[in-house]
Amino acid sequence: MRRLIFEPEHEQFRDSARRFFQQEVAPHGERWREQGFVDREIYQKAGAQGLLLTWADEQYGGLALDDFRFEQIIIEENIAHGEIGFYINLHSALVAPYIAGLGSDEQKARWLPGCISGDKILAVAMTEPGAGSDLAGMRATAVDKGDHWLLNGSKTYISNGQLADLIIVAARTDPESKHGLGLFVIEDGMPGFERGKRLKKMGLAAQDTSELFFNDVKVPKENVLGEATQGFRYLSRFLAGERLVAAIGSMAAAQTAFDITLEFVKERRAFGKPIGAFQNSRFVLAGLRAELDAAQTFIDQCTLLLNAKALEADDAAAAKLISSELEGRVVDACVQLHGGAGYMEEYRISRLYSDARISRIFAGTSEIMKEIIGRGLGLDERKIG
Ligand SMILES: Cc1cc2nc3c(=O)[nH]c(=O)nc-3n(C[C@H](O)[C@H](O)[C@H](O)COP(=O)(O)OP(=O)(O)OC[C@H]3O[C@@H](n4cnc5c(N)ncnc54)[C@H](O)[C@@H]3O)c2cc1C
Repeated sequence: MRRLIFEPEHEQFRDSARRFFQQEVAPHGERWREQGFVDREIYQKAGAQGLLLTWADEQYGGLALDDFRFEQIIIEENIAHGEIGFYINLHSALVAPYIAGLGSDEQKARWLPGCISGDKILAVAMTEPGAGSDLAGMRATAVDKGDHWLLNGSKTYISNGQLADLIIVAARTDPESKHGLGLFVIEDGMPGFERGKRLKKMGLAAQDTSELFFNDVKVPKENVLGEATQGFRYLSRFLAGERLVAAIGSMAAAQTAFDITLEFVKERRAFGKPIGAFQNSRFVLAGLRAELDAAQTFIDQCTLLLNAKALEADDAAAAKLISSELEGRVVDACVQLHGGAGYMEEYRISRLYSDARISRIFAGTSEIMKEIIGRGLGLDERKIG
């Protein structure tokens, strides 16, 4: 279905972004998946092309495009035509907004230019071995030592964990309050900061995901984002945007799976005809098309709401829930329509299938999304239980 949210300038931007992902990213995908991480240079190339932090102020080197549709286009084009493991979305649309939104003028001047040029790669570290969905269970601590904070603890499953130069780390700053967290910018090379293993995963082979360790890391006061006890509130504030980013990615992956399968069923023959001619294939694809169009329309509406600064936490949770669940159903049906070929790595659908499984888990699981939507309905057990 035609999408009406884009203007001619967006379509132009999409064309040039697509060329970039086709020419500069896709040809390296297989090698990156084998090595388990992308080359750092790809961030610099994307920066030179104006594809990083498109929204950032011109004084830092950004394009000041105060319109999330541009970021949406980048996410969609990278997934459809580039490499899903290149986490340009995490860098630009998910982590950098913490610096721009919470950082002081000095911090923004210090970090944003490198993020925009691609010289500094970003990550955010909340999850710990014992605390994922339940962030209030976080055990990493930061203690105020007067002229610095002393950070101790460990994080796990951190995207860009190996490549990142700047990592926003959440740690407990107030032992009395389970919501007293701070956000600390940890820089590559700080004494006491160590990267653990690159973790082996079911999918997203080119995306490095790692453990991180912090042993008596002296974090200068200038590296605290916002107020050192308000991290929980900040995380909640930025998580809506993060969930929309995840939803956009799920839709792009699901649509890509659908498109390649539609081509496949026209070519592949059985019983003397293309498998697309069987009523079952037609019905399956017709049903998916209807669901994809409906979900995409909702996600596009969420983009416009974000632009209008009116995207609520439960809207974003609904976007992530329906898109990631739909992605799961689409890739599963598309593998089935591919037959044995769908299980072979050389067919892209097999990768889309294994890459998709995490979408219902990271950036908040489907169950947590339902909790948030339920709270929006006033069905909070703390209030009505
Ligand atoms: C590839 C990958 C990349 C990631 N990248 C990052 C990153 O960059 N930074 C970062 O900080 N984290 C990252 N994560 C972590 C991710 O966000 C967490 O794995 C996720 O939030 C789930 O937390 P958990 O793994 O601790 O699962 P758990 O919280 O232990 O959940 C286990 C199960 O219990 C269910 N559950 C939990 N609480 C409830 C409840 N209240 N009601 C009903 N069911 C519940 C969950 O839905 C799930 O089904 C990444 C994870 C992966 C796998």
